[in-house]
Amino acid sequence: MVSSQTYTYNQLSDNMNDRSHLLLITHDQPLATQIEKYMYRQGFEVQVLSKSKDIPIWQQRHWADVILIDNNLPDDTDALSLCQELRRPPTVGYIPILALVENIERKEELTLRLSGADDYINKPIIERDLLIRVMTLLRIKRQFDQLLRDNQELANNLVLREHHLQQTLARQDELQRISEEAKILKMQMIDNVNHEFRTPLLQIKSAISILIEMGREKSTDPQYETVAEMAKQSVSRLEEIIENFSRLQLIENVKPSPIILRDGLRQGINSIRRSWSRRNDIRRIQHNSDQYNMLVIADRLALPRIMYLLLDNALKFSDDNVDIIVDFIQHKHVRIGIRDYGIGIAPEHHKHIFEAFYQVDHGTKRKYSGLGIGLTAAQMLAESMGTHIQVESQLGEGSFFHFTLPLANIDKV
Ligand code: ADP
Repeated sequence: MVSSQTYTYNQLSDNMNDRSHLLLITHDQPLATQIEKYMYRQGFEVQVLSKSKDIPIWQQRHWADVILIDNNLPDDTDALSLCQELRRPPTVGYIPILALVENIERKEELTLRLSGADDYINKPIIERDLLIRVMTLLRIKRQFDQLLRDNQELANNLVLREHHLQQTLARQDELQRISEEAKILKMQMIDNVNHEFRTPLLQIKSAISILIEMGREKSTDPQYETVAEMAKQSVSRLEEIIENFSRLQLIENVKPSPIILRDGLRQGINSIRRSWSRRNDIRRIQHNSDQYNMLVIADRLALPRIMYLLLDNALKFSDDNVDIIVDFIQHKHVRIGIRDYGIGIAPEHHKHIFEAFYQVDHGTKRKYSGLGIGLTAAQMLAESMGTHIQVESQLGEGSFFHFTLPLANIDKV
């Protein structure tokens, strides 16, 4: 028979928001009454079971914060073995067990504790002692439960993070794959432009030369030479554009090593002569490149190419002189800058001009030739050498494009 009684006085203990539940397992009726009354007054709900075999039925519908087990149960049940069974699964919480014993010896005390009892109290029960022990066990239980909850939360967070990590890794793999594909596509496109454009362009170039020569003998028109020169100039520009495109391949092979700065600058200036020979614009470039005989770490093809691309723009977007300015930074780096005094670039375009095919809309004022990939190529080359091209410019006030290169440590060369 289950002897169960619940007191319902609404009397709360000082430090508890809700009544804590005690389960008392004893067949000693006077003891049960004593504990029930006293503990109820102290703010506890108390349930009493007189037989240990009733516990499984009770457990199905009830719960307790602390269990008190009388060591002397009549139905030959080993009260201690009950301790283990009584504990709920750890995820639900932890239920402390207090054994009510009669003058046990040290050995018995150890057995008790090993069986799972958290504490014991000697009979006859001194109420104040009982309260203190129950309160202590309750405090431990709350801390333990809090730990379990924190642990559970941590475990949940960990699972969530693991999930996010997996997602990020999968996304990264996908991006990597796309980037590889884009790289292959880019190289294929460059190859195609190289092969498909070059041959017809060469044919156009030689056809124009022949036509110019043939026409020269027959034409008396004074405009003839100007038109012929324009045709040659346009073919050269077209050649340059294709060259720009095919030079993108350079990026794949950039290998910075010590080179003489003077040589890199000179090669850049010389390469621009071909496309700017007609108007003698090359004379607008002001430089002291001869004096820069120090070693810098750069790619021997990429540096001249960057110079070419920046000078080409500077000449194109200004009618005035263009300065090549070299500054030394703390004896460790050189800053190479190209300054023009031309149309300039409004700040809102600065970050876009390095994007492929981006061109500032200059309205109907004047059309500038180009594809919008020169600065993209220059920046890619610069970055593969570990540097970065920066721009300072205001509309109508010219532009200053610059980048730094490390000076080679001669001792290590
Ligand atoms: P493009 O072949 O059009 O010159 P770029 O990539 O070299 O292509 O330059 C992109 C755009 O940046 C140009 O179309 C131009 O609008 C602007 N730009 C570049 N350099 C200068 C410069 N020195 N002065 C003014 N605008 C410039």
